[in-house]
Amino acid sequence: MTLQGGTAIALRVLVVAPRTAARVRFPEGLGLEAQPVRGLDIGTHVPADACGATGLAGVWVAGNATAPSEKVVGALACGVRAGMAINADLVAERTRRAVRARDVA
Ligand SMILES: Cc1cc2nc3c(=O)[nH]c(=O)nc-3n(C[C@H](O)[C@H](O)[C@H](O)COP(=O)(O)OP(=O)(O)OC[C@H]3O[C@@H](n4cnc5c(N)ncnc54)[C@H](O)[C@@H]3O)c2cc1C
Repeated sequence: MTLQGGTAIALRVLVVAPRTAARVRFPEGLGLEAQPVRGLDIGTHVPADACGATGLAGVWVAGNATAPSEKVVGALACGVRAGMAINADLVAERTRRAVRARDVA
């Protein structure tokens, strides 16, 4: 293997420890950003609960952005759970509004 500076090193095996980075960009001021995965030196993610809810109401994440060690099937399951949670949140909000509107009348 030849390093950038031209130094050649004889080797038979090269072991690397890849790190992943959550490529997310939230609007400034939301207070939401990728953070190092706690306890594991594997990269960054956006912390969220099992259904993808972040600490910020109305913002969900799914897949490797929150669970960097997931494979396709796990990332897909994250997305399904987040979709279900988002739908439930919207239904609850619409129901609250309908109840409020009825109380006023
Ligand atoms: C080398 C390698 C090998 C792997 N092998 C396997 C395997 O054999 N089996 C397996 O199950 N899993 C494997 N995985 C893991 C698998 O690829 C991931 O778990 C899965 O792709 C995660 O899906 P995702 O939707 O969360 O993210 P991604 O598949 O990364 O999808 C995110 C998408 O968002 C897009 N994006 C990013 N930023 C923006 C933006 N600002 N605006 C719009 N779009 C944006 C990206 O371009 C990308 O298309 C492998 C991963 C790697 C890196």
